[in-house]
Amino acid sequence: MTSEQKPTVGFIGLGSMGTGMTRNLQESGFPLVVHDLRRESADALVGGGARWADSAAETAAESDLVITMLPTPRIVADAVSGPGGILEGIRDGGTWIDMSTSVPEVADAVREATRHRALRILDAPVSGMSAGAATGTLQIFVGGDAADAARVRPVLEAMGDPDRILHVGGHGAGYAVKLMINQLWFSHLVATAEVLSVGVAAGVDLGVLRDALVASPANSHLVEHDVLSILHRGDYDEGFAMALACKDLGLSIDLARSTGISVELSGLVEQVFRRARNAYGDRAGEMSPFRLYEDLVGAPLRIPAPAPAGTPGVVA
Ligand code: NAD
Repeated sequence: MTSEQKPTVGFIGLGSMGTGMTRNLQESGFPLVVHDLRRESADALVGGGARWADSAAETAAESDLVITMLPTPRIVADAVSGPGGILEGIRDGGTWIDMSTSVPEVADAVREATRHRALRILDAPVSGMSAGAATGTLQIFVGGDAADAARVRPVLEAMGDPDRILHVGGHGAGYAVKLMINQLWFSHLVATAEVLSVGVAAGVDLGVLRDALVASPANSHLVEHDVLSILHRGDYDEGFAMALACKDLGLSIDLARSTGISVELSGLVEQVFRRARNAYGDRAGEMSPFRLYEDLVGAPLRIPAPAPAGTPGVVA
């Protein structure tokens, strides 16, 4: 496919995630039209040939398909249906893909209000943190019509790992899968913080305790991999803010409520996250609840990072 044949992608929301995603779209040869509340967030993209649009409506009018990557359902709804929103610019039969972590209600209302316009609407939220957005290795969960999902796949492949771009069901299924992944991961985070803190307070060496967990049936991806950013470097992942993590947990509980399933554990985890947000602020990293337990222990939980391969005395 030559770059002339590629559709023009409109992209709204150039934050921690959108910055890397748009850079990868640009590097894959997709012509871009971009918009954000912060004009400066587009400087590098415009330098690379992207067009700036002054509104969501203009973004949609100048592109073949438009993507939103925005913080909350309310903001997505405003950017689509509010004054100057996507619906004012998008052509009949046009495509809107919401890659934000959100809930189906926003797109449901848009579909209902635009039935006569035959818009193609997909939810395609992502996992993989800002690092995955930067490297183009996001996991993407697509909800909506299968043929529409197949048609936009080349665009998604510019941002995600082709083996982990999954069509997971009809409208809203992508949002639901994403929210459940976050819920489980955040639950793992709190559970891991608890057991590491109690073990250390009981006198066990932190590295020995973690090694034992990794070798046990209680191992998890978080214990084996993700928690090392904290234990090695004190990095609580500021690429994903506590304010957004708490938003996701609230949406997850709303989703559970809408199904009638009782979720006592999810409720507790949400409360721990809200306590951490109060303690460390909206912009603190998503793994900051770990700090609550470090505060109880009275010291950061750290183990030395292995020396990089090639360091004298280290077997690579
Ligand atoms: P962010 O806060 O870093 O970026 C959001 C961007 O949207 C900002 O640049 C902001 O200026 C812009 N914006 C806000 N309101 C706007 C509006 N009305 N019109 C135009 N632009 C507007 O957020 P993020 O971390 O990039 O997250 C975006 C979405 O992706 C969220 O739904 C989040 O839950 C989800 N997500 C984030 C991560 C992560 O690690 N950061 C991972 C997976 C999913």
